Amino acid sequence: MKIKLPYGCQNIDEDDVKSVICALESKWLTTGPFVEQFEKEVAKYCGSKFGVAVSSGTAALHAAMYAADIGPGDEVIVPSMTFAATANAIVYCGGKPVFCDVDTHNLLMDIDDIESKITGRTKAIISVDYAGQPADYLQLIGLAEDNNLILIDDACHALGAYVGILGRSIGNLSDLTIFSFHPVKTITTGEGGMIMTNDEKYVEKMRMFRNHGISVDARRREEKDSWQYDMVDLGYNYRITDIQCALGISQINKIDNFVQKRNDLADRYDYLFKYYINFVEPLDRLTGYEEDIDAYHLYVVKFKEEKIRNHMFHFLRKKGIGVNVHYKPVHLHSYYKEKYNTCSEMCPVSEACYRKILTLPLHPGMEENDVDTVVNLMKKGIRTL
Ligand SMILES: *Cc1c(COP(=O)(O)O)cnc(C)c1O
Repeated sequence: MKIKLPYGCQNIDEDDVKSVICALESKWLTTGPFVEQFEKEVAKYCGSKFGVAVSSGTAALHAAMYAADIGPGDEVIVPSMTFAATANAIVYCGGKPVFCDVDTHNLLMDIDDIESKITGRTKAIISVDYAGQPADYLQLIGLAEDNNLILIDDACHALGAYVGILGRSIGNLSDLTIFSFHPVKTITTGEGGMIMTNDEKYVEKMRMFRNHGISVDARRREEKDSWQYDMVDLGYNYRITDIQCALGISQINKIDNFVQKRNDLADRYDYLFKYYINFVEPLDRLTGYEEDIDAYHLYVVKFKEEKIRNHMFHFLRKKGIGVNVHYKPVHLHSYYKEKYNTCSEMCPVSEACYRKILTLPLHPGMEENDVDTVVNLMKKGIRTL
């Protein structure tokens, strides 16, 4: 079936096109001034000191693990309810992912379960701002400090979110924060990612890491009139192009509108589910304080039973509604079962929720009547059960 309404989708306008053309006509297609400008603008937007742009969110996670010096013998605590890339980045560096369960209401990391999984080998926690809600940073920051752990935020869902009680945006709450600019995320560069930090020592490391582990990049070499370079550690080619960053610069200008539109559409879903539908529950999202901003990457609902969820998934897909399930708990993937001896029952809440959740379409190109269409189809779907 052709999908008419995907769960997520980029929003590109004339300004984006003009910005990309401008990059194409400039001198630098990669490692040029648009990259730096994009880094500065995202950093300014979220109030952090530095941004390091790379080729994807996954590359950004890998670079953050490298900056945090994760290696063999190190354990990193990570929620099981996330995209596999969050845990994979730990493995890229030779570390061991330790899967943690989530809270049944909002699917954010369960703080007590994190505490119970801290050992002498734990070096870092990666929190995930699931679906765009900021995780509980008041508690996470305290927990990391008390146990001398590096706090890393996989904020691939949460660019644009804000934590009222701390007066800070996502991107300025942990030691290293990761954003993705994949087309379904808040803003896009096609593929792309960025690591935010306030700590300069991480910045140089990650700039090197994205460029083969070489200490000086091409443009700076040209400025210095020198052919000298030194590869000081094993890095990768994780560079992002100026073409992509030109798109990112244009997109970040519109982020507040994107987040507002997502919230308005989510309000409409909330309203319809509250008054007209009794067989489904929206996520009970963590927005405890008045000023909190939820970036609303995903609109997730829970059904009472797996059977109903599965029926609804197929019914809506047949009608061209691109519903999806986020996520199959990472510890249930074959790779982790085989290599890390994970098994079911390890994170019972994640597993139980996985059977009941469904992600409904939510992106800034939608209108209120699209939300109504989805909900009306769900009403029809329940009658065909
Ligand atoms: C999208 C996403 C990633 C990976 O980002 P890419 O840019 O696709 O590599 C990692 N973690 C989470 C939670 C994501 O949603």
